Amino acid sequence: MSEKPALQALFGGTFDPIHYGHLKPVRSLAAQVGLNKVTLLPNNVPPHRPQPEATPAQRIEMVRLAIADDPLFDIDLREMARQTPSYTIETLAALRAERGQEQPLAFIIGYDSLLSLPKWHRWQELLSFAHLLVSKRPGYDRQMASPPLQEWLHQHQVHTPQALHKNPAGKVFLAETPLLPISATEIRQRLHNGTACDSLLPAPVLAFINDAGLYRNPKPHGILRR
Ligand code: ATP
Repeated sequence: MSEKPALQALFGGTFDPIHYGHLKPVRSLAAQVGLNKVTLLPNNVPPHRPQPEATPAQRIEMVRLAIADDPLFDIDLREMARQTPSYTIETLAALRAERGQEQPLAFIIGYDSLLSLPKWHRWQELLSFAHLLVSKRPGYDRQMASPPLQEWLHQHQVHTPQALHKNPAGKVFLAETPLLPISATEIRQRLHNGTACDSLLPAPVLAFINDAGLYRNPKPHGILRR
């Protein structure tokens, strides 16, 4: 009998900019689950939110700089290549079609994203295509918004990583990851205000931001960001 293919994990985000709150919990999650590769998937047109401040090319470059020295990560630009909204379900369906039914696939999200999952396009189909691996995020409580959602989590949750490797999809794993109180919103605000960000993101990413003059000018009035 042939070996099951290794679990492949994807981590989507706007990465405006990429920061340690993305990288450190995912490194820890990868060690717990036994992932040898995590593919970063920058979004092009995030459906639920205002447009990023950095251009797609700048966000890609920042991701490249952030992962240059870490063989755990690579990057997939498929969501950047299309002009329609980045719906995760469509990306996962395309990957499933490419890789076949046996391939274990996982999508990594922070706990805030798990709590907002019911707002995602066709969210109930996500587990037909992939597992969900969830990292902790400060400020987000572990209860889902309603008893039926809590029950949904309970039905799909596994407490050890083995089932993630044995099954192609369908499980939710809540990883014990370090709490990093960092968001891209806060980084953009700090840079707009001229406050230091050195401990929040990799030095080459910060150097790129400074060279490009990104996030520097005061925010134009009336643009709301989450
Ligand atoms: P913004 O502040 O612009 O909304 P963000 O910092 O939340 O951005 P995103 O690119 O929107 O970053 O997030 C991509 C993924 O990373 C999401 O699944 C989110 O839950 C997760 N994530 C972001 N920051 C953290 C963090 N500090 N700890 C754990 N997960 C995080």
